[in-house]
Amino acid sequence: MVAEVLVEVSNSNVDKTFDYNVPSAFINDIKVGIRVEVPFGRRVVNGFVLSLKNDSELSDLKDISNIIDKDIILTDELLELGKIVKDKTLATLISCYQVMLPKALKAHSGTQINKKYDYYYKVNDIDLSTYKFNDKQKLIIEMCKDKFIIKDELKKISISSLNTLLNKNILIEEKREHYRLKYDISENIVHKLTTKQNEIYEEIINYDDIKPSLIYGVTGSGKTEIYMELINHYLEMGKTALLLVPEISLTTQLISRFVARFGNRIAALHSALSDGEKYDEYRRIANGEASIVIGARSAVFAPLNNIGIIIVDEEHSDSYKQSESNPRYNAKEIAVIRGKMHNCKVVFGSATPSLEAMARAKKGVFHLLSLMERVNGRELPLVKIIDMNKEIRRTKGHFSNELVEAIKEKINLDEQVILLLNRRGYASFVTCKNCGYTFKCPNCDISLTYHKSSNTMRCHYCGYGDSKPIVCPECHEKSINDLGVGTQRIEEELKSLVDARVLRMDYDTTSRKGSHEKMITTFKNHEYDILLGTQMVSKGLDFPLVTLVGVINADTSLNIPDYNSSFNTFSLLNQVSGRAGRSEKPGVVYIQTFNKDHYAIKYASNNDYLSFYNEEMNIRKVLKYPPYYYLCYIRISGKNNNTVNNEANKIKRSLDRNINSIILGPSPSILYKINNIYRYSIIIKYKSIDEIKAILIKISDHYKNNNDIKIDIDFNPLHIL
Ligand code: ADP
Ligand code: ZN
Repeated sequence: MVAEVLVEVSNSNVDKTFDYNVPSAFINDIKVGIRVEVPFGRRVVNGFVLSLKNDSELSDLKDISNIIDKDIILTDELLELGKIVKDKTLATLISCYQVMLPKALKAHSGTQINKKYDYYYKVNDIDLSTYKFNDKQKLIIEMCKDKFIIKDELKKISISSLNTLLNKNILIEEKREHYRLKYDISENIVHKLTTKQNEIYEEIINYDDIKPSLIYGVTGSGKTEIYMELINHYLEMGKTALLLVPEISLTTQLISRFVARFGNRIAALHSALSDGEKYDEYRRIANGEASIVIGARSAVFAPLNNIGIIIVDEEHSDSYKQSESNPRYNAKEIAVIRGKMHNCKVVFGSATPSLEAMARAKKGVFHLLSLMERVNGRELPLVKIIDMNKEIRRTKGHFSNELVEAIKEKINLDEQVILLLNRRGYASFVTCKNCGYTFKCPNCDISLTYHKSSNTMRCHYCGYGDSKPIVCPECHEKSINDLGVGTQRIEEELKSLVDARVLRMDYDTTSRKGSHEKMITTFKNHEYDILLGTQMVSKGLDFPLVTLVGVINADTSLNIPDYNSSFNTFSLLNQVSGRAGRSEKPGVVYIQTFNKDHYAIKYASNNDYLSFYNEEMNIRKVLKYPPYYYLCYIRISGKNNNTVNNEANKIKRSLDRNINSIILGPSPSILYKINNIYRYSIIIKYKSIDEIKAILIKISDHYKNNNDIKIDIDFNPLHIL
């Protein structure tokens, strides 16, 4: 027998299967979808068996050296899915399989996890009257009379008594696989769906086409409650369910609601889990022991069988796109593909759907299901805009009088406050500290970024550049600045202004495992008055005592050089506003901004998603951005600036000759020089993938064996770095 093996070697150019002979010793154990060790050159490497056949056209085949897995780890469905991901992203096939698996199962790992077992004991079915026991032995026998008890419990009584009983065969032993993840199952509250929630639930379970649905529901409208009811429905039908969430460690409140209702039928694929824990969860899914998977992006590949429903919560979130490494896939796209494979329901949910999703819903490609009111008729919070252009004349600090007074008032009432320091972004942009003027590219309507080395401002989309001026063209003051301020400084300033217990939440204070959850609990228990933090305070939190939300700087995310910056700002403001007034007490939101007339800020203050959508769509149409055009980003990088620049220009010319799509660049990337690697960008705005795919494959093949130039291709990129 011959196995086709996809080998994992560090050189990604080797992305094809090789034939190996299956020695007779392995004939019984060889399967499609397991890992094997094979000789490759002078080394032994790992690989996946992709198929088996009787003969090979080639002679002199080498033997498979070893079999790593007993059980299949790439099911037929995952094997098929990997090929689709490769086709969509142009990444190597091996990278598409690696991304699906927990670290312990990736080809190169090859480690077999030594699984930990728990030992359980029960009294044997024999006549005990002939034995004599001491008190401790009696106690153990009493405990284990009718049921299996875990060893850890019995050890506490006496390990020697336990051993004696075992040696005498009084106790029988059972070995069970140990699962490291334990859930606290708190009170299980099942709400009866409101009429409106129920309508949406019924509609989803009853339509019989395979179109995905979009639940567009304001914050607190009860989307999560609908998800639970839907999942319950499909579990009762004997099917499984997949729930994708943006960043699972920031979704603890949501998960505890699910765990309370569904208990250990859930497998949670946390980024905070250890490799062993991830592997445990993965096995529970593969074994069919867990029937609900909750996880972030890569959980879309969870090895569930017979899926009844796939739900993508906070559909608009950036986190569903893998941007940093290959394959650069989008989990939302995979969700739709898997939905078709399983013939199951696919549901997207958001309070601020992405423009792509809403545009599809409006065209009828998705079912559009709207929930415009909060549960129990609770009001959406009142939003006030504070013009920081006025405040800046009064104070050098970051807090307006109005916000400080509002904070004091709430604390006097024994209520709580959330403050958001908007630090979205990675680049410094150039702005006037006096009037808030931000420099933008005349061609692209994207903020220019500051390049310190040359003291210039650049558009990293089209390459437009200008020197950094000293005087603001708008207010003529000499107050041009590049921005950036830390949470710690804001915390100190806040403490000097109000007498309150402040809890700071940012990447520094939450980096330790479990600290995020602890913070949420202490804040919920009212051990603090103010929760001050970055974006992570905007997501999914539900604190009944929070009646005031303050946004310290709405503008940072507005100025990011990204066509999504208005949307991201609107969405962030909407999300964080949604944290206020979730129980009986009404909420109020203060947004401090230098751009009070910007449409993203104005519509956020009215909770008016649909008007924002219409205005943003007009802009996207004029500037030829998604969803009117698709984007493809090509990054050309290498050690020698001249070579990279030349090759980038060659690529551009070759694209010009071959396709009619809009081609921008090449221009130096926003992260122009990283680790002495120079990076240039080309952006294609295209209407149909068929126009551009062939030439892109040709280009990427052309540079495959070129050590001086690396090509990265990202379809529908979120960031252009
Ligand atoms: P969303 O996911 O849209 O933000 P949630 O599902 O979290 O909304 O619901 C908001 C709040 O309302 C939660 O505290 C939830 O427990 C409560 N809730 C949701 N649906 C109901 C219902 N049918 N009856 C009573 N309370 C509900
Ligand atoms: Zn430009």
